[in-house]
Amino acid sequence: MEIFNTKQEIKSYLTTQKKKNKTIGFVPTMGALHEGHLSLIKQAKKKNDIVVVSIFINPTQFDNNKDLEKYPKKIESDTRLLANSSCDVLFYPSVKEMYNTKVSSEKFDFEGIEHQMEGKFRQGHFNGVATIVKTFFEIIRPNSAYFGEKDFQQLLIIKKMVKNHRLKIKIKGCPIFREKDGLAMSSRNTRLSKEHRVSAPFIYKTLKQVRKKFNTENTLKITEWVEQEFKKNTFLNLEYFTIADEKTLEIVKNKEFNKNYRAFIAVFAGEIRLIDTIRLKNL
Ligand code: AMP
Repeated sequence: MEIFNTKQEIKSYLTTQKKKNKTIGFVPTMGALHEGHLSLIKQAKKKNDIVVVSIFINPTQFDNNKDLEKYPKKIESDTRLLANSSCDVLFYPSVKEMYNTKVSSEKFDFEGIEHQMEGKFRQGHFNGVATIVKTFFEIIRPNSAYFGEKDFQQLLIIKKMVKNHRLKIKIKGCPIFREKDGLAMSSRNTRLSKEHRVSAPFIYKTLKQVRKKFNTENTLKITEWVEQEFKKNTFLNLEYFTIADEKTLEIVKNKEFNKNYRAFIAVFAGEIRLIDTIRLKNL
């Protein structure tokens, strides 16, 4: 596995590879890697000659300084993990390398989807995400890039950004990888206390019940039920629960035939914020 820390080095390496007609699959991450990340890498390797993984904790997508400071950093074990995976190139730049002296975001227009859910509760988050992903795309110029459906709103944002900027990159969504007890894998899970870790699978359990209820109950009733369930839970605090149209992310009041819906949830387990989502069957 090749490891690069500068734009110039990785650009020059990938230019040589592209001249040999090699295709490039890109997996952007913030490190503290788990099997969810590895599943994206596996997907990328199935369809591309070279898999590039970036590890970069992007300061402009954090709305909370404490979360940024405490974000898990595990570059040594991550490097070992990647070396034993299908990753061919690790790109691990510094903040200065990516932003120079101006650590700020560009402003994007995502036609409304940026104002829902994560956009509402994490000010500036998606401008930060789109800024850094666009910069990575300009440096790496991949054929395809792989994102997890766990961050479903982020996946839509990236697809919109690619379309609006007419970038020739295929964006692939990959299924959520879960722990055996159903908790969606996340780098933040390592920061959960024992009690919070034991309580956290309640999030996915609730989502699965939502999926069942969606067949027979209206969305308002389901939302109220979820809110009540979390009120009864001493360890988990609900930030939002929303049933939304999978394309527009607008809140659904009345189900319509031929549309796809999803439930989205954000929960605080102590000071750790966890998100999850599930696709709902529209009968
Ligand atoms: P992160 O390092 O958390 O920024 O995540 C990097 C990429 O991995 C994003 O596209 C995430 O959506 C994806 N990802 C994170 N957790 C999971 C998971 N449990 N299953 C699948 N993909 C994931």
